[in-house]
Amino acid sequence: MIEAVPTRSPPMTSVDLHCHSTISDGLLTPQTLVQRAFDNGVQILALTDHDDCDGLEEAGQAAQPLGIRFINGVEISTNWRGKTLHIVGLGIDPSEQPIREGLAQVRGNRMARAEKMAVSLAKAGIGGSLEGALAYAGNPGLIGRTHFARFLVANGHARDVQSVFRRFLVRGKPGYVEHEWASLENAVAWIVGSGGRAVIAHPGRYDLSKTALLELMREFKSLGGTGLEVVTSSHTIEQEILFAGHAKNFEFLSSKGSDYHGPGESRVELGRVRPLPDGCIPIWEALQ
Ligand code: AMP
Ligand code: MN
Ligand code: MN
Ligand code: MN
Repeated sequence: MIEAVPTRSPPMTSVDLHCHSTISDGLLTPQTLVQRAFDNGVQILALTDHDDCDGLEEAGQAAQPLGIRFINGVEISTNWRGKTLHIVGLGIDPSEQPIREGLAQVRGNRMARAEKMAVSLAKAGIGGSLEGALAYAGNPGLIGRTHFARFLVANGHARDVQSVFRRFLVRGKPGYVEHEWASLENAVAWIVGSGGRAVIAHPGRYDLSKTALLELMREFKSLGGTGLEVVTSSHTIEQEILFAGHAKNFEFLSSKGSDYHGPGESRVELGRVRPLPDGCIPIWEALQ
């Protein structure tokens, strides 16, 4: 009898290299997040807050006595061909100048953007959203769409945070404003210049044509990017197989993470992501 060939080896190590704390748009403090990771059996963890490294020290300190291998991370917002792409940096030294100054620049005008978002929502008849969103932002300088989404849910405009994004806060809908983030080139340069590896986050989420996706991966590689997030909670199994193939062809290291934002707000629980498809080279083995 011919045995079925398994597509994935059982996970030897529980790894989660993408999640958010109250420093950006997560619901848990860095310390609480690390404790939850431990309770869920995570052995290797990266905190990847949007555009901010302020939670890394607290998370790293919390991880140490628990025996979790902690990796410094960040998720940088970038613009590429009219779309917003997220680039995860892993293994960065947050005290290095390129990442410190670069992120300060990206964060700088989030509040101005939030003010414009509030004006747009007010035009649609929803008042008080800036104050409302700020009440959910642990770090006002990092105010973003998730905080507005929580306000909209609390005020009965949608059932949950994910449903908000069908009617609000996306291009063409109330609350959306165009914004200039980092360039892809700068984001990669800041990460690599601070000792880290740059990874394209959730590549299946950008609604890119086949050609554009190939061009993105080629450009990213030529800029010094070395990783692809093959497994993430927003990918289907088919997408994981597809991106495992791209990782192989482009010789990218593979990453995986839940993109956890907090209890009740995420597709999967912290640490509960599928193993990498066989043949992928895990990025955590290449990180110091
Ligand atoms: P911002 O950086 O302010 O543009 O906010 C981006 C964040 O909004 C993402 O990191 C997610 O946390 C959240 N977000 C965007 N689109 C969706 C969606 N369709 N469902 C749930 N959350 C979303
Ligand atoms: Mn987020
Ligand atoms: Mn993202
Ligand atoms: Mn994320």
